[in-house]
Amino acid sequence: MRPEQTDIVIVGAGGAGFSAALSAAESGLKVLLLEKTEWPGGSTRMSGGGIAATGTSFQEKAGITDSKEDWLELWKKRQATSNPNGPYPDYVFVDQFMDQAAVTTEWLAKKQGHSYELPAGFGQDPEQRIHFPKGTPGGMGGGKQLIANLSKTLEKRENITLQTETRVTDLLMDQGKINGVKFVDKNGPGEIHAKKVIISAGGFVQNKKMIAQYIPAAQTASQFAVGGTGDEGDGIIMAQKAGAVLYEDPWVIGMGITAALPGTGSLLMDWNKLYMDAHGKRFLNEASHYAVVANAVLSADEPWIIIDSAKANEDLLKPLNDAVASGRVVKADSIQELSQQMGISGSTLKDTVTGYNDGAKNGHDSMGKEVEHVVPVNIAPYYATHIYPVIMGTFGGVKTNPNYEVLDKDEQIIPNLFSTGESANKRLYNHVYMSGSSVQFALTSGRVAGKVAAQQIKQH
Ligand SMILES: Cc1cc2nc3c(=O)[nH]c(=O)nc-3n(C[C@H](O)[C@H](O)[C@H](O)COP(=O)(O)OP(=O)(O)OC[C@H]3O[C@@H](n4cnc5c(N)ncnc54)[C@H](O)[C@@H]3O)c2cc1C
Repeated sequence: MRPEQTDIVIVGAGGAGFSAALSAAESGLKVLLLEKTEWPGGSTRMSGGGIAATGTSFQEKAGITDSKEDWLELWKKRQATSNPNGPYPDYVFVDQFMDQAAVTTEWLAKKQGHSYELPAGFGQDPEQRIHFPKGTPGGMGGGKQLIANLSKTLEKRENITLQTETRVTDLLMDQGKINGVKFVDKNGPGEIHAKKVIISAGGFVQNKKMIAQYIPAAQTASQFAVGGTGDEGDGIIMAQKAGAVLYEDPWVIGMGITAALPGTGSLLMDWNKLYMDAHGKRFLNEASHYAVVANAVLSADEPWIIIDSAKANEDLLKPLNDAVASGRVVKADSIQELSQQMGISGSTLKDTVTGYNDGAKNGHDSMGKEVEHVVPVNIAPYYATHIYPVIMGTFGGVKTNPNYEVLDKDEQIIPNLFSTGESANKRLYNHVYMSGSSVQFALTSGRVAGKVAAQQIKQH
């Protein structure tokens, strides 16, 4: 029998939803967690599961010296690399988030059955502040482990019910106040009344129409989106219908590049490669943070990657050769000939490659790439193929206050409605994702929203 009434309904069982449910359940109130797909976890389950935080007891125990100030400095430096005149980040909020991130990191381990590897760096960020789940150093399978740990704890909480294959379709509203949700499950449509509703339905990485509408620059990239299959913007759309307003300047979460050819997945974050635009010019330091790389590739003019036949590229040669016949890859015995096949006239491409190779010799790269990543391109035959940014989520969603209560156009709270995770994740960023911050934001916003929602019910 379906319940007809509960205290708190949570829409979506990803990182934010699990965290909101566990947090709200600490109050003893009844919590119903509704998940659209067969398997809970969403994008969080696919992620590395690492959460960034400074000043944690785990860092302290490992003798790691780190501070919020250092994290903030990196945050500002990186955000300045794209759209510096945009309306975000909101640094007051970033500062609060960093404090809350440490609280969440401790809470998960001390109260919710989670555990960590020693804090580590990731990608281009060596600072040891990412807390990967125990058993998954570097994040391989980390998201799965995080969700498994939280699921185990959730099963023990008698006041939480998790119902999968249940798509929430709408919010119920009475006299301007949210009081439940409509949903469709295996038995057809239904309704449940609740005192509070927390939207944790992720972003819209899997909704090509919404990406085209809200982030037209990423329309092409949306074909290379990875993320939870249920992340289609449902939560954002239903909150909007209830009067919520959207954050300005939505963007995608970038995760390196793809050549969109089978067998070339290692190019995702390969800093030793050389990229070119349609005019034969480099357009970035290829050894930048993977979100910065994705952004640069997103705005470059029909970018290419150039690969030579060096031993280090051995595994790529078969897939590249296999794609020559289809025209997806061009191949030549000289850079000049390659340039012609790429449709780049003159000597620009040749000059660029020569300059890059000279940089490898003399230890100076014109784009500021660290010399250890400047690997010469000088062994024929040469290959070129187009590259595309990979996206793994969206920044945007509905505006909230710091308690994650949803706001309307007059910045007034829509009573009883909260939004968390990628359904409300924009204030932290301009256009650049910070490693370990998005899973952390999901867990932190869920924890805070769950706690506040429960407190409000109890105080009433
Ligand atoms: C491959 C990959 C790697 C990543 N790596 C990292 C990383 O290492 N570090 C990091 O910080 N971030 C990473 N990210 C981003 C990060 O995982 C996400 O931003 C974050 O986990 C989002 O959490 P969420 O709870 O908001 O959404 P999700 O975890 O996606 O959960 C949303 C849930 O809501 C459900 N849902 C949607 N609509 C409805 C509906 N109508 N009714 C009911 N349920 C609904 C969905 O099915 C889904 O289960 C990665 C993302 C991907 C895809």
